[in-house]
Amino acid sequence: MKRIDAKRLAAETKQQVATEVAQLRNKGIIPKLTVFLVGEDPASMVYVGGKAKDCAQCGIASEVVPLPDTTTEEELLAMIRRCNDDPSVSGILVQLPLPAQIREQAVLETIAPEKDVDGFSPINIGRMMVGEDCFLPCTPAGCIELLKATGQPISGKHAVIVGRSNIVGKPMALLLLRENATITICHTKTEDLAAKCKDAEILVAAIGQDRFFTKEMVRPGAVVIDVGINRGEDGKLHGDVDEASLEELEGYISPVPGGVGLMTRAMLMVNTLRAAKLQNGLPHHM
Ligand code: NDP
Repeated sequence: MKRIDAKRLAAETKQQVATEVAQLRNKGIIPKLTVFLVGEDPASMVYVGGKAKDCAQCGIASEVVPLPDTTTEEELLAMIRRCNDDPSVSGILVQLPLPAQIREQAVLETIAPEKDVDGFSPINIGRMMVGEDCFLPCTPAGCIELLKATGQPISGKHAVIVGRSNIVGKPMALLLLRENATITICHTKTEDLAAKCKDAEILVAAIGQDRFFTKEMVRPGAVVIDVGINRGEDGKLHGDVDEASLEELEGYISPVPGGVGLMTRAMLMVNTLRAAKLQNGLPHHM
């Protein structure tokens, strides 16, 4: 399979954002992302660090608010509300997962929809559902960009999405439907998963199981988007797809690492730029 060059696509996307941010700064508008990090989950700390680095590359101001894992829900909600009302903050992101005493849904419902750059708030999800202009969740939006980068058509194709989480599988299905694909969503209760995957012209693997999808489950010529990030027994990062076993097949695959993760990060920059433009009454076309 041909590897989709996500590294290049992500770099180009961020470059485009940087160009537009520079134009905004010339107008006196400084886009800014505020990230709340509750606790010291090592993976979350790495992700938040990556986001700050991306912001710096794009000329977006960023602020990371580290909070102890004893933070109460009310304390966090109060801080979010202050950012909602702060005109210098374009985008607000609360790094998930949260400690048990803070309800994720309460947090997502509190972030102002026009600053919800993760696209997880119920208002944005609803807007996406009915096809209105909104912030798209970064991972599925990045997957669509990767699919388009192959030059292969999406319209009319059979797309099989394995995984039905609120942040990946479900929104992925909606976005592919928007692109006129025919959708099958699979999960742990799906019968004869292998046969369903084998029928996919577009296969999105988002289950979080190390190298689960092998050659026997993939149709020759398919475009495979591997969302999974798994730490293998060898200590290395692997996707949900056993890329090595697909080597001889025709088609395209997004690598792990260096695939969906990079585009997810780039799409957060696109969303933050969009937030800054919308809050300043400017149109957004990216
Ligand atoms: P969740 O654990 O929330 O969801 C996993 C989904 O996969 C569930 O719907 C589950 O089904 C399904 N599933 C699990 N095992 C199987 C199986 N053997 N056969 C069929 N379906 C299965 O995970 P997320 O959606 O949050 O994440 C999925 C993966 O993507 C993870 O590896 C995560 O690390 C990665 N990820 C990567 C991102 C990136 O930027 N690259 C961003 C977000 C996630 P059921 O509903 O029936 O339980």
